[in-house]
Amino acid sequence: MTEVFHLFLELPFELRRMIWKECLPKSRVFDTMLPCLVYEKSRCRGTRWSSRQSWRPPIITRVCRESRAVAHETGRVLFYGDDPNVPDYIDSVWSDATTDIVAQYWCPGLESVMFWPHDEPDTYLFHYAPRYRGTLIAEARLSRALRSPTPSADWSTLSQLQHCYVCLENPVMIHLTRKELLLSGLFGRLGEEFIQLVDPTDVSRLKKFHNLALTSSQQLPETLEFFEQLHTSTSQYKIHNWARETLIRWIYQEWLQAKQTSFVGIPHPERIWLGPRSPGVDEKPFNPMAPETYSKYSMWFHLSDTMHFLYDEKHPWVKEKLAKAPRFLPRIMIRPCIKRCWFPPRRLGVGGREDIIA
Ligand SMILES: [Zn+2]
Repeated sequence: MTEVFHLFLELPFELRRMIWKECLPKSRVFDTMLPCLVYEKSRCRGTRWSSRQSWRPPIITRVCRESRAVAHETGRVLFYGDDPNVPDYIDSVWSDATTDIVAQYWCPGLESVMFWPHDEPDTYLFHYAPRYRGTLIAEARLSRALRSPTPSADWSTLSQLQHCYVCLENPVMIHLTRKELLLSGLFGRLGEEFIQLVDPTDVSRLKKFHNLALTSSQQLPETLEFFEQLHTSTSQYKIHNWARETLIRWIYQEWLQAKQTSFVGIPHPERIWLGPRSPGVDEKPFNPMAPETYSKYSMWFHLSDTMHFLYDEKHPWVKEKLAKAPRFLPRIMIRPCIKRCWFPPRRLGVGGREDIIA
């Protein structure tokens, strides 16, 4: 039988307010675009569902006037039409700058491979980014900007960010019932933090999500494969070297920019790169003024290439660029899905045609 706490109204207002505050989501991802527009490989339809759930006002806005007022101390509903900073594909969205991480999955160049009838997605990202608790972009975007062999325009765009979460993979979808979602405790106190960003080195938290996937409804094979491959040496290498690799590529982009102006004003540019220390496959030593000519590894070609490259952290120019570089934090995105996506799409023959209705 449900227990009812009848004395709640007798509590002092400040205590009631603290309780209402505790009921608010602690961290939310505010999708300024649907990830399914970019990540389209999965047959799961839950990314759209979880984004739309996240756009709804928190549950306590619908309990009573007092709870609603507490939620509105920091949050509000933004309406498309009233607010030019709401994308045209969102009718309305709950927004709280104290808890929200503004997410955008766009990658420049996608417009050439998919139809995009809307405004420039970066307009929204850079409107909210300085005001909100955090920002999130897809790794595909960062990786593309950092692997450019010539100075990258998008790298200059990303350098406006101060710190930024980076979504490493396609969202990992866990299929479960609403009850399992709530009881798991992994999606917020009231089960309304539908988009979770997990530090890939947080083994114990990832284990909890893995266990949830194993003990909940039937999963799509890709979900279980994701958790199983997390323990492989390739995944572990990527996770543990991600930050170092990102910084090396970041400094290399800075170096490309400096090269365009012949390193003017930079003392001893030949001392920026310390290695690789061993000669290349052609027996020629590494040339710190032309790192791209090193014949064993290419600065932009392959994941493992950067493990031998090394910049001098004590070089004044490197120090300055490291201090200015945005802080990128890798995250694995995990979302719940209450749909039964493991059923194969149902097909109906209509007049010789097959229409997918699922
Ligand atoms: Zn699904």
